[in-house]
Amino acid sequence: MKIQVLSDTHVGLSGAKVASELFLNAIEDMNENIKPYAIFVLGDLTNDGMLSQYSEYKNIRSRSIVPLERWHEVAGNHDVDYDGDINRFNAQIGPTYHSWSIGNLIFIFLSDESGVGISGRIGSSARTFTENIVQNNPDKNIFICHHHPVVGTVGYSTTAGYGLESDSDSWAKNLIQNNPNIAAWLCGHIHVGVRGDGSYPWHVNKYGAEFINVSKVTYNSTLSGTTPSISRLLQFRNGSKTVVVKFRNHEKREWVEEEEYTFELPFEVEGVPEEEAPPTPAPEVTDLTWITGATLSIIILAEFLRILHRERIRKS
Ligand SMILES: [Zn+2]
Repeated sequence: MKIQVLSDTHVGLSGAKVASELFLNAIEDMNENIKPYAIFVLGDLTNDGMLSQYSEYKNIRSRSIVPLERWHEVAGNHDVDYDGDINRFNAQIGPTYHSWSIGNLIFIFLSDESGVGISGRIGSSARTFTENIVQNNPDKNIFICHHHPVVGTVGYSTTAGYGLESDSDSWAKNLIQNNPNIAAWLCGHIHVGVRGDGSYPWHVNKYGAEFINVSKVTYNSTLSGTTPSISRLLQFRNGSKTVVVKFRNHEKREWVEEEEYTFELPFEVEGVPEEEAPPTPAPEVTDLTWITGATLSIIILAEFLRILHRERIRKS
């Protein structure tokens, strides 16, 4: 099963490249070349949380071949801090937090609820929701998907304000350290492209979990300069404890192979859909059916003529 994890589409932002065009390009790339089972978008779907930007976002999203129920999104600071707020996100996209289970994997999606500034906040009911899932599922692989990084993990999370607020941050660290069923924390926000972004890694294993920054689909970034439109792919196989993480450059429509890596899950994967086998060429099958039918008709006709001929001989 393949899950493509995007973030920071920033629809509404224009500049060297238009954000909505890059989002559409990523969708076309996934439709034609990747065909993921599910797609996640980890916040900053819009640049300013405006209604027209949500409409444009949804319009572009509708071009995806992945059904809407397999799209999972959270709000980022750009969705809730500027012209928008969490209520508009709820009305246009979905709930503040929710989870999705498939096989023995559980993904928990938590929006940024700060409403002001660039730091992230996870509200008290979202925390209770998360704690209940984590405690009631000690034998499942749990993934937390949020816009912001935990401070001191990936990329620019140590730069003042770019990670979670201190209260949410200590809650997250405690939860991860005390629960070995938490496999990974996936985040956007900091737009990390490749490891070459200074000394800031886009993935790191810490506190007993894997932290992954999924980069951004948009182009402009004050943090990472003009790195291309990037997302990550998570690949799960039944019977395997290993997740393959791939790095997609949507503009070049290629995998950046030297960035591909794997990490270990708490438990072997069970019950996820197998990847579809490559399609078999159909025309030959149709031709064969036609030939079989025609051959059968000829055999019947020959038999009929043989009987007719025999009858004639008998009569004469
Ligand atoms: Zn952000």
